[in-house]
Amino acid sequence: MEAARRLGVPLTVASERPSTFEQAQPERLLTLDFPNPELAAEQAARFAQRHPIAGVVGVDDDTAVVAAAIAERLQLRGNPLPAALAARDKHLQRMKLAEKGVPVPRFELRRVGEDVTDLAMHARYPCVLKPLRLSASRGVIRADDPPGFVAAFERLKRILEQAGCEMRDVGGVEGSASRIPHPASRCVLVEEFITGPEVALEGLVTGGRLQVLTLFDKPDPLDGPFFEETIYTTPSRLPPQAQAAIAGCAQAAVTALDLREGPIHAELRYNERGPWLIELAARPIGGRCSGALQFRGGASLEDVIVGHAVGMSLPSLERERQAAGVMMIPVPGAGVVREVQGVAAARALPLIDDVVITAHPGQTLVPWPEGSRYPGFIFARGETPQAVERALRAAHRRLEFVLD
Ligand code: ADP
Repeated sequence: MEAARRLGVPLTVASERPSTFEQAQPERLLTLDFPNPELAAEQAARFAQRHPIAGVVGVDDDTAVVAAAIAERLQLRGNPLPAALAARDKHLQRMKLAEKGVPVPRFELRRVGEDVTDLAMHARYPCVLKPLRLSASRGVIRADDPPGFVAAFERLKRILEQAGCEMRDVGGVEGSASRIPHPASRCVLVEEFITGPEVALEGLVTGGRLQVLTLFDKPDPLDGPFFEETIYTTPSRLPPQAQAAIAGCAQAAVTALDLREGPIHAELRYNERGPWLIELAARPIGGRCSGALQFRGGASLEDVIVGHAVGMSLPSLERERQAAGVMMIPVPGAGVVREVQGVAAARALPLIDDVVITAHPGQTLVPWPEGSRYPGFIFARGETPQAVERALRAAHRRLEFVLD
C-alpha cells in the first residue's frame, strides 16, 4: 500500500472476507473468493467494468494464484494460472522441474495412511519430510535414520491435521466456507537432503526472463532437523561463478514452470555438484524481510513490483551500494510474550537500521516445526556483509523476550 501511494497508483485491496469499510470505499476495497481463483477473476472482471484495473499483484502463495487468474482474465501482466499453481504446490513443482532437467533433490510422494515403518526402512538418508502446501519451513523436518523418519512422519501428520483446512483449492469444488481438509494435507513429500550453503534469490521476471534483484547468503547453517531461518545478508559472499550458476538454475526453473511476469523468491543450495533448486515461489520474499532491500534511487522492492505490474518504466533495478541484511528473530521458546526488553539498546547499536518486534504482548510463540511466525526482524546496513552480520548478531544479543 505504501508503494502504491509513493508511485501515485490508485489501489484496490482485495480480501477474502468483506471489510467493514467496503461500502464506504467501494472502489478501494473488494471481496474476492480466494479459494476459487476463476470465480475471483470473474468477480474482478465485474469490478473492472466500473473501475478499470491496470495491474494485479499477489502478496503470498495463495493470492499469487488468484492474481494469475485475474491477470489472465483481464489480460494484464501476470503468470499463466498453471504456472502459478505449479509454483505453489511443492510436488507439482518438483515434477515439472525434474522433467525439464532442473537440478532438484530426489523426491517421492507419500500418503499419511502408508505404513511408516516400511517407508522408513526403504528411505535413503539423510532425507527431508515436508508438506506440499505450507510455507516458512512449517512442518519441514530432516530425518537421519529410520527412527528419526518415523518420529518426523508422525509429527508432520499432526501438523497436517491442524493445517488441513488452511490449504485451499482451485476450481470451485470447495467454496470459501469449506472446512473440508485439502487432499494435500494427506500427503508428505520425502526428499534427499541436499548439503551445502543456502541462498535466497529475489528476482523479477519480465516476458519469462529473470532479472536477479539480489542474492542473500544465509550465514547460519541450515542443517535441520528444523529449518527456522535467521540471518540473510547481501551481497552474496559466494564466488562469482557460483552466483552465476545459481542465477542460471533459477532462470531454468522459471522457464520450466512457465512463469512469465512478476516477482519470484527462490531458495537454492550450492555444493560440489553445483546449484540445487530447493523451492521457488511466484511472490516476493515474506515477512518484513524486503525492508533490507533498497534500490539505487531509493525504490523499495514493493515499488519495483507495483511499478512492474502496471507497466511503469522502472528506475534502476540495481541494489544500493552498501551491504545489507535482516535477521528473522528466532523464536526464543514456547510461551506467551509478556514483554521484549532491550529493543532501544539494540536499535542504538552501530549499523542497525531498525528492530521491529511483530509479536505483541499476549501472543503465543510456537517454535518450529509447528510454528511459522518470527517474533520480529532486525535490519542492518554497512560496508560489508560480514560487518552487517556481526551487527545483527550483536543486536540480537541485546534482546530479551520475557515469556509466560
Ligand atoms: P517452505 O516453502 O515451507 O519454506 P521449503 O521446501 O523451502 O519449505 O523448505 C524450507 C527449508 O528447509 C529450505 O529453505 C531448506 O533450508 C530446507 N530444505 C527443504 N528441503 C530440503 C532438501 N531437500 N535438502 C536440504 N534442505 C532442504
